[in-house]
Amino acid sequence: MLISDLIKKDPTGLIARAARFAEKAHHGQFRKSGEPYFKHPLATAETLAAWHMDDVTIAAGLLHDTVEDTGTPLETIEKEFGKDVAFLVNGVTKLGHFKYRGEKQDPKHQAENLRKMVIALSEDLRVVFIKLADRLHNMNTLAALPPAKQKRVALETDEIYAPLAYRLGMYDLSGELQDLAFPFLHPKEHEWLIAHTREQYEARLAYLEKIKPDIERVLRAHDIVPLGIEVRAKRYSSLYKKLLRRNMEIGRVYDMVALRIIVATIPECYAALGIIHEAWPPVPRRIKDYIAMPKPNGYRSLHTTVIGPEEKTMEIQIRTQEMHDEDQYGVAAHWLYKEKNGGAISGKKLAEELTWVQQLKMWQDHFSGQSTDTAEMLQAMKVDFFQHRIFAVTPRGDVVDLPAESTPVDFAYHVHSEVGNTCVGAKVNGALVPLDHKLKSGDIVQILTQKGKKPSEDWLRFAKTTIARDHIRIALRSRNKVLAGSRPPAHCELKIAVDNRSSIVKDISALITRNHATITSFHYDDPKGSRYPFDRVMVQMSDKAKIEKLIAKLKTIPGVKEISYRIL
Ligand code: MN
Repeated sequence: MLISDLIKKDPTGLIARAARFAEKAHHGQFRKSGEPYFKHPLATAETLAAWHMDDVTIAAGLLHDTVEDTGTPLETIEKEFGKDVAFLVNGVTKLGHFKYRGEKQDPKHQAENLRKMVIALSEDLRVVFIKLADRLHNMNTLAALPPAKQKRVALETDEIYAPLAYRLGMYDLSGELQDLAFPFLHPKEHEWLIAHTREQYEARLAYLEKIKPDIERVLRAHDIVPLGIEVRAKRYSSLYKKLLRRNMEIGRVYDMVALRIIVATIPECYAALGIIHEAWPPVPRRIKDYIAMPKPNGYRSLHTTVIGPEEKTMEIQIRTQEMHDEDQYGVAAHWLYKEKNGGAISGKKLAEELTWVQQLKMWQDHFSGQSTDTAEMLQAMKVDFFQHRIFAVTPRGDVVDLPAESTPVDFAYHVHSEVGNTCVGAKVNGALVPLDHKLKSGDIVQILTQKGKKPSEDWLRFAKTTIARDHIRIALRSRNKVLAGSRPPAHCELKIAVDNRSSIVKDISALITRNHATITSFHYDDPKGSRYPFDRVMVQMSDKAKIEKLIAKLKTIPGVKEISYRIL
């Protein structure tokens, strides 16, 4: 909702009063662009409103430059708007004095800067949201500044604010900040990119806009009403990074423009996937289930690439509103949903959250409401990250960020809980090591897994990270429960050996969906040496008779060779 609407709704409320106060305080001041200064705090507040922030934060956003730039005493802010607003304005003002040197910095120095920033911010996370909204508007109006200052602000944004947003899980904002900084930091590369991709971008955008109604129609025909379908262009800064990895061959980047479909529930995500595969054949090996297997940063969505009308490939992402908000607003979304669900975050979601964010929130709770002992907090942060972090690498080159003295077990759980649970051994830089081996930065770690294996109680002796320890405990507990005879979750795993026919995935998922079963994950596997590739499908089902009926139907699909199943 726009600030002007919020003011209309409650003309004497906190936001309305803050807006009038700020406009008056900044009266006669102008931005470098020539615009009245008040436009800047107003834009900052608009962004905060779009992030679903509370009234106090939005009011503080309107007032954030009054103390620094108009000489309004903080006491006046407190008297007029209360303690909370004054606290946030003061936090943002203090951060204004944080000087980023903007010279070439070694990573250690950069981490140190980021750490200082986080310490300042962790008193109240809402300060960071205001600062980020403030920076977003400054970046949007950067062209008005003299070139030397442009470069400094862009560098600071790229090295401090974008990583900070990323650390907070605000991936969309992080990407946007990087994109805004990109032309100022790499003008030549930016020019090249525009010259070489604009036409293709525009053609792809036009194509997807044209397809949108078709997708909506197909989904509605199966009683799925999408909450939204958006066409989404890949950011220039990340496209550039991807092109560097692909020898600058634009034809090899499939996801330059993607379609995002937002539906109401997780079962609808899988159903929509099945329906789309029924309408357009999927490209093999490009179906990614980040709902069953979230990315290490917590990202969830279904991805697929299909051959659309006119034989053109299109990438489609399917997610719920909650997943979408998490992707866009990060920590802010967690707060939003926490509030909606009456303060309770589900255990599963908590486990999926970044350790970093968990810790930040823990500290915030821990240190708010008591006289902040800076030394103690500093120590806590030093122990937990930045200072003592290691960066180990998967064989595929993904970096895993862990506290020092972490072991292969920690590494395995950070890759995925299932990898951790089934871990039986580890190789570090090619050599077998014991599971309590202490990893070092730069180690290439390969986890050896064995299906059906369970974690050992002994791991709790050396596992270092909260994520690993929590998962080990959960796995031990559920095993004890099974031993105690309680019912396991109602899931059935189907292993379907199939012909190498590209549309078979679509036929299988469509048939299962038509039979009102919920698919919770779908993996296509083509291991070397096996006669047929197979689909591994998890279905929410535990009734043997129903499963066998479903299997009989699946066997009528041409190309299905064998089906085995087990109830989990
Ligand atoms: Mn400002």
